[in-house]
Amino acid sequence: MNAPARKQELENHKLAKRLRRHVGQAIADFGMIEEGDKVMVCLSGGKDSHTLLDILLQLQARAPVKFSLVAVNLDQKQPGFPEEVLPAYLRGLGVDFTILEQDTYSVVQRVVPEGKTQCSLCSRLRRGALYSHATEQGFTKIALGHHRDDLAATFLMNLFFHARLASMPPKLLSDDGRHVVIRPLAYCKETDIARYAEERGFPIIPCNLCGSQPNLQRKQAERLLAEWDRSSPGRVNQIVRALSDVRPSQLADRNLFDFHALGRRSQAPLPDTHAWLAGEAAGAHADEAEVPVALHGDSRADDGLSILTG
Ligand code: SF4
Repeated sequence: MNAPARKQELENHKLAKRLRRHVGQAIADFGMIEEGDKVMVCLSGGKDSHTLLDILLQLQARAPVKFSLVAVNLDQKQPGFPEEVLPAYLRGLGVDFTILEQDTYSVVQRVVPEGKTQCSLCSRLRRGALYSHATEQGFTKIALGHHRDDLAATFLMNLFFHARLASMPPKLLSDDGRHVVIRPLAYCKETDIARYAEERGFPIIPCNLCGSQPNLQRKQAERLLAEWDRSSPGRVNQIVRALSDVRPSQLADRNLFDFHALGRRSQAPLPDTHAWLAGEAAGAHADEAEVPVALHGDSRADDGLSILTG
């Protein structure tokens, strides 16, 4: 082997090691996998889910607990979906797998007006199909391929478009409380995943078969992150690190921190807003709309499940 080839091999080795280390760290930090777990790995055929499956298989061989893995792909009947690609690949890997079939594509085409983003409905239908399968088959964990950059982008989307501090949790209980969703790639950089996928030669299924418009809010957040990371390398990492260092007393969420109790000198009830604003006519001020309303609590955070792909 010549010197450049040796150097490349060393780089590939380091990259695989780094991904395994980050995945192992995330699994440990969030208690993602325990003895006897039956993990359903959602495989869309994109670089992220291929990497997820690949790294989990490597870790499974030397994990401190025994758990099983099954790759599950949902064929949504998009035109041109190469049906044979994933089964052939998975058979070659020797991993258990299931290909589900559900024509969500036609439903989305019928229901969503032309020119509108279809991803939200498409993802909900996909999630429904995958979760139902997980229930039927008794999977204890559902693994998704979202990575560090997805966490950061979701955080920005929630901040800029939904006025809330929320991201995509590495571990999540589904709305109905029946499924535990895990994101073992939560610490992995997208660029590492892209390089790894290329180096491993995964059979990638393009995600544009549906012909949908991309989610513009997500695209905007991703573009911003990419620009920031170019001008200030490491900024995306800082954002994701900040997600695990939340200081409720330094924010303004009264549900998380009891500001009323802070520095109280007596137990007498405090006057409420009405008392403080007595005599003020509602809507009298032009700048009223700019007053930050701290009483949200009416909408759920986008936990990023709307991009159940990878
Ligand atoms: S881009 Fe993905 S999520 Fe969006 S409509 Fe197409 S297949 Fe569904």
